[in-house]
Amino acid sequence: MINKERLTNKFISYVKIDTQSDPHSDSTPSTEKQWNLANKLVDELKAIGLQDVSIDENAYVMATLPANVPHDVPVIGFVSHFDTTPDFSGTNVNPQIIENYDGKDIILNKEKNIILSPDYFEDLEQYKGQTLITTDGTTLLGADDKAGITEIIMAMEYLVDNPEIPHGKIRICFTPDEEIGKGAHKFDVEKFGAKWAYTMDGSQIGELEYENFNAAQAIVRVEGKSVHPGYAKDKMVNSMYIAQDFINSLPRLETPEHTEGRQGFFHLSNIKGDVEETVMEYIIRDHDKTHFEARKQMMQDLVSDICSQYGRNCISIEIKDQYFNMREKVEPVMHIVDLAEKAMEEVDVKPIIKPIRGGTDGAQLSFMGLPCPNIFAGGHNFHGKYEYVPVESMQKATEVIIKLAELTAKKYE
Ligand SMILES: [Zn+2]
Repeated sequence: MINKERLTNKFISYVKIDTQSDPHSDSTPSTEKQWNLANKLVDELKAIGLQDVSIDENAYVMATLPANVPHDVPVIGFVSHFDTTPDFSGTNVNPQIIENYDGKDIILNKEKNIILSPDYFEDLEQYKGQTLITTDGTTLLGADDKAGITEIIMAMEYLVDNPEIPHGKIRICFTPDEEIGKGAHKFDVEKFGAKWAYTMDGSQIGELEYENFNAAQAIVRVEGKSVHPGYAKDKMVNSMYIAQDFINSLPRLETPEHTEGRQGFFHLSNIKGDVEETVMEYIIRDHDKTHFEARKQMMQDLVSDICSQYGRNCISIEIKDQYFNMREKVEPVMHIVDLAEKAMEEVDVKPIIKPIRGGTDGAQLSFMGLPCPNIFAGGHNFHGKYEYVPVESMQKATEVIIKLAELTAKKYE
């Protein structure tokens, strides 16, 4: 159905363009090189024949596929990001194509002995017989999220070429800087003008997500008193011991390494200290809003307890919310998830619905007034040299987009 060779070539042409974002930059996009792909995408969208193709001063690319039915259909949108993570090199990506994968080890790089093995990455087994695109072991691949971009463009092209498939007005947007948490920051929701949208930014085939963590960051500061150790009796206060009390008073099993599914956690991500001062950085995560609030309260209470124990303001905490679970924004419009589920089933993809143990741009967009569940883009092992994507998964994701457009138009007939 979806031309495999054309899809593959398009994807490869995108991943060869370095679009790594930079968390230390204040500009948008955070790196100049992201313009290279953004501008190319503008040209391609125009060439396909989409309308209102635009790129703004922050490199957000938008376009419209006009409706081809006479009745009113809500405008829906598809979103993906063109930057790649700052965590791993995206320079000189040299994709390898493995046709008819035999289910065995894949040598990514002979010289450096880098092997992509199903012994370690069991997910590989389900793609036996398929076409895989991998790295050469020296960079990431960038399927996150250039697979999503490829799928959206292929789907729009298909709908233009096959006007007998009914659909309402469709808006698409490609964003910069998702990987540094800013993909939604300068997203003009009003200009986008969709009733709801989907990010094509999930991992393996079938993934459908509309729940993510509630997230906050906490900085805990402990103040000690440094005195010459030889003359310290009843005078020295060692901030590191107080910090240790604080750490040990939080539930040890409610940490990332002991939790899964919908279980929340406290995560001590950094600690720096000497006698005089210790600073701890925590992140707090929970899908449940009530539990999330209780976790923050628990940390506050602990700080008060320790202060009263030492009889002075020796410890303080600063908590900042980061993002919230989109579920509360999606549940009132649950039909948008149902439609995605149905679209998957109609193209023989088994939906895998699970809560994200992290955040997405869709979560931020949902709180900006654009409910936005996340659909698989097909890749695995994001943000590193073992990243790969089966071409068949990208074909299926493209079909899901097309089917979603069709089902939405039919639902409102
Ligand atoms: Zn992504």
